[in-house]
Amino acid sequence: MEIDLQPVGEIDYGILLQLKDRLHRVFGCPVVISDPVSIPQEAFSADRKQYLSDMFLDDLKPFKKAHTYVLGITDVDLYTQGLNFVFGQADIAGGVSVISLHLLKQENYGLPASNDLLIERAQKEAVHELGHNLGMGHCEDGTCVMHFSNSLIDTDVKKPFFCSHCQPKLAL
Ligand SMILES: [Zn+2]
Ligand SMILES: [Zn+2]
Repeated sequence: MEIDLQPVGEIDYGILLQLKDRLHRVFGCPVVISDPVSIPQEAFSADRKQYLSDMFLDDLKPFKKAHTYVLGITDVDLYTQGLNFVFGQADIAGGVSVISLHLLKQENYGLPASNDLLIERAQKEAVHELGHNLGMGHCEDGTCVMHFSNSLIDTDVKKPFFCSHCQPKLAL
């Protein structure tokens, strides 16, 4: 398999390179960085000042190829029906997923920016969504990357890889 990192809108190239390296280490497969595509403006909700993540997934589907999983990365705040926000979302049947860096950035909570924290959190969310694409569900173990993040605290508690229960389910 291969992972296609697909920036949606402008994303810092240093972040993409670090994420590429980390995903390669977790999944052991080739990871490529694609040219950015534009943010779907029709996904913007003026009331919520957020973007509907489902439309990002729809835009990514045409890039899906056999044996390739497309992971979109955006900087804008995402939501989906029934949830105030999402860190990321996977379309399992479509083989695509998207993560947002917006809520992972310290500076968006009035704190000093931290590149280390940002890349660590982005790795966790990326591995989580790709895990869904590979057929994995949520894990009850709060330290497992497949644990559902209700808040950034949950993301910070979990580790950036699969627990011993989930790891064997990774059929690559
Ligand atoms: Zn999940
Ligand atoms: Zn697990």
